[in-house]
Amino acid sequence: MNAAANLKGKGALVTGSTSGMGLGIAKALAARGAAVTMNGFGEAAAIERALDEIKAAGDGRVFFDGADLRHPSEVARMVEQAERNMGALDILVNNAGIQHVARVEEFPPERWDALIAVNLTAAFHAIRAAVPAMRKRGWGRIVNNASASGLHGAPNKSAYCASKFGIIGLTKAVALETAEAGITCNAICPGWVLSGMSRPQIEVIAQREGVSFDQASRILLAGQPNRRFVAPDEIGALVVYLCSDEASPVTGAALSIDGGISAR
Ligand code: NAD
Repeated sequence: MNAAANLKGKGALVTGSTSGMGLGIAKALAARGAAVTMNGFGEAAAIERALDEIKAAGDGRVFFDGADLRHPSEVARMVEQAERNMGALDILVNNAGIQHVARVEEFPPERWDALIAVNLTAAFHAIRAAVPAMRKRGWGRIVNNASASGLHGAPNKSAYCASKFGIIGLTKAVALETAEAGITCNAICPGWVLSGMSRPQIEVIAQREGVSFDQASRILLAGQPNRRFVAPDEIGALVVYLCSDEASPVTGAALSIDGGISAR
C-alpha cells in the first residue's frame, strides 16, 4: 500500500501529536517528505523528545504549536501560523481527543463541553480555516480521527460517542462540498490503541478486577476480534495512504482500523 506516496513539498498539521496516534501519524507523514506542524500538550522534555522523533523520521522541517484546541481563536491562529511556517497547509489531520467515562446522569456538564470542544468543534474550526487555501491550490487532504465509537454506541461514553458520530457527519458533509476541488476529507475509526487515552481505562479495569495491567489489557481486548492493540505506526500508514494521490477517489469514508470490531 502507498509505496508511491511522496509528500515532499507538502505541509501537514497534525493536532494532538505530542503522544499516541498523533505522534505516529506525524512521524509517518514526515517520513514521506512532508513538513510537519505538531500540536498538543505535555511536559517540555516530552515534547522535545517527540519533536526529535519527528525530525529524525523526515527532513527536519518540524514546527510546534501549543494551541489549546478548546479555544476557537487559537485553532484559527494555529492554522494561519502553520501556513506561514510551512509555506502551505496541504494536509490537516484532526487527531486531538480527550475522554471522560461516566453514566449520562452523572456526566459533568463541563466535561461534556470540553470533550465536544476538543473532539468535534476544534476540527470544524481547523477545517474552516484550512479549506480556502486548499481550494486555491486545488489539492488538500483532511483526515479526522474518529473511533470505532463513532460507528457504535458505548455505555458511559455519551460525550465521546456524540463527538465521534459528529465528526463522521462533519467529514461526510465536507467531503461532498469539496469533492470537485481536489480535496478529500475522510475519517478513520481505530479500535483500541495503547495510549494516554486508553491507559487510564485499562487501569480502571485492573483495579476493579484486582488484576495486573497486562491482564486488564487482555480483558479490554476481548472485545477486539484480533486481540491486540492497533499500533500508532499502523494508523500512520493508513493516513499516509489517504494523503497519497492514489487515494484521490477516497473521500467521505469512515475507514475502520479496528482488528475486526466493526465486522460484528
Ligand atoms: P493521547 O492521549 O495519547 O493523545 C491525545 C493528544 O491530544 C495529545 O497530544 C494531547 O496533548 C492532545 N490534546 C488533548 N487536549 C488538547 C487540547 N485542548 N488542545 C490541544 N491538544 C490537546 O491519545 P490517543 O489515543 O493517541 O488519541 C488520539 C485520537 O485517537 C483521539 O481523537 C482519540 O479519540 C482517538 N482514538 C483513540 C483510541 C484509543 O484506543 N486510544 C481509539 C480510537 C480513537
